[in-house]
Parts: sequence; structure tokens; C-alpha cells
Amino acid sequence: MAIKFETAVKEELAKYGVEIETADIKQLYNAVSSAALSQVAKKWNRQKKTKRAAYLSAEFLIGRVVYANLLNGGLLDRFKELMIKHDADPEIFERIGDPALGNGGLGRLAACYLESAAYCGIGLDGYGIRYRYGLFRQQIENGFQREYADDWLKWGDPWSVRKDYDAVKVQFGDGYVTAVPYDMAIIGKNGATVNTLRLWQAESDEPFDFNLFNMQKYEKAADSRLKAERLSDVLYPNDDTLQGKKLRLRQEYFFSSASIIDMLRKCGDKPFSSQYAVQLNDSHPTVAIPELILRLTEGGMTFNEAFNEARKTFSYTNHTVMPEAMEKWSLSLMRSVIPHIIPVLRQIQKRLRAELSAKGITDFTPYDIIDNDTVHMARLAVFVSHKVNGVAAIHTEILKDTVLKEWHDLNPDSIINVTNGITPRRWLALCNPELAELVADTLGEDASLTLKGIDRLQDFANDKAFIEKIKQIKRIKKEQLAHYIFEREKREIRLDAIYDVQIKRLHEYKRQLLNILSVLDTCFRIESGELADFTPTVYIFGGKAAPGYYMAKAVIKLINAVSEYVEASPQLRDKIQVVFVTDYNVSYAEKIIPAADISEQISLAGTEASGTGNMKLMLNGAVTLGTYDGANVEIVEQAGEQNNYIFGLRVEEVEKLKGDYTPMRYIDSNPRLKRVVDALTDGTLQDDGSGMFSDLSDSLKNEDRYMVCADFASYCDTRDRLNREYRDEDSFASKRIMNIAGAGYFSSDRSVGEYAKRIWGIKK
Ligand SMILES: *Cc1c(COP(=O)(O)O)cnc(C)c1O
Repeated sequence: MAIKFETAVKEELAKYGVEIETADIKQLYNAVSSAALSQVAKKWNRQKKTKRAAYLSAEFLIGRVVYANLLNGGLLDRFKELMIKHDADPEIFERIGDPALGNGGLGRLAACYLESAAYCGIGLDGYGIRYRYGLFRQQIENGFQREYADDWLKWGDPWSVRKDYDAVKVQFGDGYVTAVPYDMAIIGKNGATVNTLRLWQAESDEPFDFNLFNMQKYEKAADSRLKAERLSDVLYPNDDTLQGKKLRLRQEYFFSSASIIDMLRKCGDKPFSSQYAVQLNDSHPTVAIPELILRLTEGGMTFNEAFNEARKTFSYTNHTVMPEAMEKWSLSLMRSVIPHIIPVLRQIQKRLRAELSAKGITDFTPYDIIDNDTVHMARLAVFVSHKVNGVAAIHTEILKDTVLKEWHDLNPDSIINVTNGITPRRWLALCNPELAELVADTLGEDASLTLKGIDRLQDFANDKAFIEKIKQIKRIKKEQLAHYIFEREKREIRLDAIYDVQIKRLHEYKRQLLNILSVLDTCFRIESGELADFTPTVYIFGGKAAPGYYMAKAVIKLINAVSEYVEASPQLRDKIQVVFVTDYNVSYAEKIIPAADISEQISLAGTEASGTGNMKLMLNGAVTLGTYDGANVEIVEQAGEQNNYIFGLRVEEVEKLKGDYTPMRYIDSNPRLKRVVDALTDGTLQDDGSGMFSDLSDSLKNEDRYMVCADFASYCDTRDRLNREYRDEDSFASKRIMNIAGAGYFSSDRSVGEYAKRIWGIKK
């Protein structure tokens, strides 16, 4: 196998007439990818005839695939040796951009689950959209975010195989669009299992109309082709908010319909639910439900038979409790885009009302899927699915108690919890080989690749030699990150400091604003001498704001303004650095996370469904500074509250406060809070005439929807304590070790195993 790989790489390169020494990066990337793919080709094409699961997701944030595939294919060491033998850089592919076909956590989760399923030998295929342009590339200009197109295909796409003969036609109100699949191999452990990520690309059904062209109607000739191809052009850049655009509905139906048609074709005569379990990643692919029912009735089933098949097949993962993320489409929009689906929706609604009536329920209002001109997608998903799951224990409880209370009362067994996870291959073995090696040396290689038995690291929490190694690795990862940030941002960051990290999408509920206001407070206290012994800290922020999300963009500008404020003061510059890293993505995360000391997870309790960044950081030896929200609750349970830093309001307290929350009360009674809020408008900080900072100030004073003011004091106090306790580096290293040791539960191998067993009915 190994020799074959080397030969295959050289043969691929020979096609370009080059050798390893003379190949350019793209030639090498193509050759290595093709050679690795050819090693698993046989396995990949041999589909087993057992029931499989399909993961339908509008997003797959897969990150750079080459090293992950080489690792699982058992070729990574071979590849590195080959490169070194030929005096080439084994890290050369670090320059290849990420396919950013997702926004954030939801898309990254889909990628972790595909990898874990393949690794564990579970038959799970992904279905999604092959966006021509991924999530925009972020630049910071004068402190403001600017967006540029992300042309990820400029690197080529050697891991995908176009399958023309599997193309399908998707019906819309105004004609058909062809969906052409591009298959990506998802390689499991040693290539024993190879699953598929099938991404659909929209193309015109019509051949180019040469009649129009000959009549010199060039634009018209190009028109219908363009319209179809535009469908899969861009990923909507909103995370946790719905924009309600017609093109987005077209996208959702496009990949849902194509995927259902694809599965039906593979089913042959067998009952659909005996061949497929379909997981809906959020409500985005919910139109797959009426699509399947429609197709089955067209094939001769009655509506009720088709409905029962759909119920056995579908399950739905809820990712958020925030109302602005709940998908609702106007019926008239739906009628214009997919008119043939409307009668099916009406029949589903009829069935819903019949089920409700049979249970003695007469008020349909909280359940109706179609109410007047609104179609509620989450309700459709919940009603038809046999299982609905939340993504962390506390999130699932909130679903049962409030958001989906009516549905839970109706059917107490259907809502279950499957706490999210992350793949240890990418988030330990690949991004932190130094720590992975230490884990492997201490507990065996399996622990570093699967986290199985990693809890035994607890025994080393007070082991002097082990503590030294942990500290040394953190130091190395900080050096590497500092180097990387210097290359990317042209900024020097110091090594002998706490790396305090908040990396995630910019969103008001995640409260980057709380973080930066507390940093500003720290600045003021250092300047006034109130804070005499402060451990030097580098505050690292990273994340993208949706282009139309004004408040989130204002926070980016504020972070950069505070950064400038610090740089302008010699007194502060000595103790603090504030760095906003540009264009945060999976590859950047892989650099930052291993170097982090503090994991900022500070969402208002009850708003973050789970979070997965918190798990990656924990696994890499950072302590959590966070609220009792999402998976933080379980992180603290696994790693010990005394090894993390929890602050702020609890969910119950937030609920109680909601009725008459008055942020001004906190501002008026806390001089430190008042000072930082005033700094937004008194000329201390410059927003370059954008008015952004006074808008932030108004929003804090008048509404403060995410209770930044209420949690400010508790956050600052806990942060101060952390800053002091960090100075005892050995005891802090013990906390790191306890967090690493507690991370085993958050392996996505565990999560995917739960889905397979409790929801899909699939064996390994
Ligand atoms: C893990 C990850 C996320 C999710 O981070 P949260 O802190 O859970 O919101 C977002 N973006 C990228 C690139 C990630 O790797």
C-alpha cells in the first residue's frame, strides 16, 4: 500500500511532466489527492446493501480535507516521509484555502459527524449544496469588516468526483433545474469504511439556446442557464437568523428534492424506511418531508401509507431556541417557488388536526403548520419526525419546557437529547500533534485518536513531570500561533502572557460586547492604578459578522478601537494586547485552539444551544470562562467546576428577570460599568463617524436584550480571579489536565453512536 502510494503520486505528477521537486503546489495537491483517492476507490464503490443514514444539511464546514484524509487513510506519515525525502515541505498544503461551505457551528457539526461515522464504521452519507462561493472572506479595513467573495475552487477540487450519470431534475414552479452531484470520499479508520458527502451543483436543464443566440438575443440565450446556475452560487451568510429570501427557499428545495430522488432510486422496490434513516440538520431541509410523501404517492401509495413511511424515516435536530432563527416561509412565496408541494402540506396539516382531535385537543393554534399565510418549518419537522433532538442537556430541557412544550406534552418520548461532539482526529491529532503524542505515550495511541480512556489522565493532574510537559506543549503552541499571527496579521504578540480567546461567529447573544467592555474596564483600572498586579494577557477575538448585521459589525469596530486605545498607551501596551484575527475559519481555529489558555463561552444563559468551540478548547487544555449555558454545563460536570470559571445568571434567573429588566439600573449603580458605557460616546474611542458606538450605547441602555449589564460585574470579578490564579502555573496546569481528561464525552464518535442506536436504528 505504502509503495503503491508513492508510485501513484509520481505517476500522477508525470501527467503534468513534473516531479516532486519541480511540481507547483496545485500539481502536488492534485497528485497527492488523486493518489490517496485511488487507494480507497474499490472500497468506496462497493456499497453495502444494508440500511444507511443520510445527513441532510444546508452546510458542511469541512475545512481543509487533505491532511484529514491522509491521516485516516493511513497515509499521512508516508506522505510526510515522501516529501522530506525529496526536500519538499510536508506542510505545503497549509496554503490551500478551506472549502467554507458553512457558517459556523452547525456546518462544522455536520463535518465532524461525517468523519466520526466513517471512522466508526457507520454508514452515513451527507447531502448538501456545492456552493460556488463559500462563506465570504473577511478583511478588516480601518477597523471595519469588509466582505469579499470566497473563490474556494481556485485551488481545484481534487477530492470530489463529478457524477454526471447520477444527475437528477428538480421541479420548480417555473421549470426544472438539473442537480449534478459531486461526491467527496469520507475516509474512515485505515480506509475500512468510505462514506460519501454528495454535494449538488445546480445547472441548466436547457442546452444553450442557439436559436436565440443566432437571432442575436444573446442575453436571453444566457438567461435561463444563468438563472439555474445562480441557484447554488452562494451560501447565505446568516448564522442563527432567517432572511426569508426566495433564492434560499429554492436552495433548500433544490438539495432536499435531489437527495430524496437519489435515495428513492437507490432503494429500488424496497420500502424506503427499511433502506434509509434521514436526519434533518435543523429545519433547512424540512421540505424533504413533503417531497418524499409526494414521490411515494406518485408511486402508488395512499397518503397515509406515504406519511407513515416518512415518519419512520425522518428525524430532526433542533439547533436553536431563538425566534429569529425559526424558519417560517410565507405561503404565497412557497406557492410561487414550489406550487406542487402545497397540496401535500395541506394534507399533512389535515392529518395533524386529526391526530390532535383524537387526543381531545381543540385549539390547533400552537400546532398548525400552515397558519394563514405562514408555513412553520420546525413544526412540520417536529410533527412528522419520529425523533426530535436537542444538542445539549440544558438545551433539550428548554425545548421540552418552553419552545416545544405542546409537542412534548403530546408525545413525551419523541424529544431526546444528543449532546454535540467534535472529532478528536481533527481537533487533537491533527491540530495538536505535540499533545496527541503525549497522550499516546501516556495512555496508548487509541486514546489520542478516539479519546477512549482519556479520563485516566486525571491520575497525572498532580504529576510534576507531566505538568512540565503540558506547560512545555502550551508554550510551543503559543510560539507557533504567534508566528502564524505575525504572518497573517503582521502583528507581534508576546509569548509570556495569558491567551484569552473568544473565537466564534459574531452575534449579540454570544456577547463579544461583554468581553470587550470588560477588557476596557481592565484598561481603565490599570491606568488608574486600581489593578496593580495584573498578569499580562493577550485577548484574541475572531469571527465573522453577517454582512447585514449592523450591531455585530459595530462590535468588530469596537474591538479594533479598543485595540488601538491599548496600543496608544505605553502603560497598557506592557500588559495587554487586543488582537482581532482576520477571516476566522476552520484552519485558523486549528492554530488558535491549541495555544489558548482561556476559552470564552459567555453567551446569556438559555441562548447557546450547545456550542462546540468550547469542546475543542477544553480538549486542548484551556479552561472555560463561561456561563451555565449549552454544553458548558456538561463540560463543567466532566472536568469539575473547580477547574473552570463559571459566572453570571442561570437560565431560571434570566427568565425571572425578563419581565422588567432595566439595564440603566445596573449602569447607574456600578461606576465601572458606567465608565465603560460612557467611553462609547465621550470621545475616548473613535468610530470614525460611523455612529456605531453611540448605537451600541443606546442598545445597551435601552434594551440590552442579552443582559450584558446584568452579568458585567460577575464576569469581571471571575475574570480577575482567573487572572490571579493563573500565576500559580502548576495548579493552572492541573486544571488544564482535568479538562483534557474530561473531554472524552465530547468525542463526536459518542454522539454519532447515539444517533445510530437511538434514532437511526443502524449498527456499526
Ligand atoms: C467549531 C467552530 C465553530 C463553532 O464555534 P462555537 O464557539 O461553538 O460557536 C464556528 N466556526 C468554526 C470555524 C469552528 O471550527
